[in-house]
Amino acid sequence: MIIAVKRGTPEQETRQFAAELEQKGVRVHYSQGASQAVLGLVGDTTSIDEEALRAHHLVEKVIRVQEPYKQANRLFHPEDTCIEVLGPDGTARLVGAGHIGIIAGPCSVESPAQITAAAHAVKDAGAGFLRGGAFKPRTSPYSFQGIGGDGLPLLLEAKRASGLPVVSELMDIHHLDLFREVDVIQIGARNMQNFTLLKELGRCGKPVLLKRGLASTIKELLMAAEYLIAGGNSRIILCERGIRTFENYTRNTLDIAAVPALKKETHLPVVVDPSHAAGISWMVPALAKAAIAAGADGVMVEVHPNPEAALCDGEQSLTPDAFRALMGDLRRLKEL
Ligand code: PEP
Ligand code: MN
Repeated sequence: MIIAVKRGTPEQETRQFAAELEQKGVRVHYSQGASQAVLGLVGDTTSIDEEALRAHHLVEKVIRVQEPYKQANRLFHPEDTCIEVLGPDGTARLVGAGHIGIIAGPCSVESPAQITAAAHAVKDAGAGFLRGGAFKPRTSPYSFQGIGGDGLPLLLEAKRASGLPVVSELMDIHHLDLFREVDVIQIGARNMQNFTLLKELGRCGKPVLLKRGLASTIKELLMAAEYLIAGGNSRIILCERGIRTFENYTRNTLDIAAVPALKKETHLPVVVDPSHAAGISWMVPALAKAAIAAGADGVMVEVHPNPEAALCDGEQSLTPDAFRALMGDLRRLKEL
């Protein structure tokens, strides 16, 4: 249930009203929009007399949220959420609410030289975050699985050397300790509905980059985000990374419509991963530009210093030169 508070109500009065509502056994989220405050009621609202509420002198409107995602719902929080991540250089990197976040780096951390070269290349081209997987979810058990726990110290060294905050995928909650200095935890497509993992991450204060499952609907993605928020973590960046369709020209089909759909339904920032969507590097720049043009709050792009030698996803990785050219195109696009 959402209560739009009358414009001009002093904050103190609104907070007092919220406290009174909490005494009825619901949790109340206070959100101050540009023109008015919104109170989002979560929990069992059956004890709330809706008629009496509508008649309350501070209430402008009462809205019942029909969708199962309540706290991820834009009705709950009309303003865009902006995720702020502090880099090791002390610079705040922002994603959402008009701030475009560019995450770039190799599919996986391979060696100190590889990840450091990638970090400097993406930083010089203007990326705000470095990505690199240490634990890789691979379809085949015989494929390279990532260098595991050994990869995170290398990623953290590249973080210090480049000044960029880092994003890396967590597959197993038992590894969480190793991710202490990782700035953004990625939950990959295959784990989007790993509810145990989502519940645990709800308790951890770190931002989560939540990727859409390969056969998940927009609503299911929002429900996965709802798990994190319900657990106490609303620092979420949603990521559209292509879905499984009958089309096999590309690795997946980029659902560009998911961008405006998600932007309408939720206040959370939305980024697009054109690399896993396309699966082929030459197509990545076109899809990245489409994402930004469609209103995405950023992109996550695979970049490798030498894609031909990559241990994972070389085919879809941009060279540093191609990434630099893409960054130039994206800057022109945003200026238009
Ligand atoms: C990745 O980002 O490296 C990855 C494995 O992506 P996804 O989970 O979208 O397949
Ligand atoms: Mn990859």
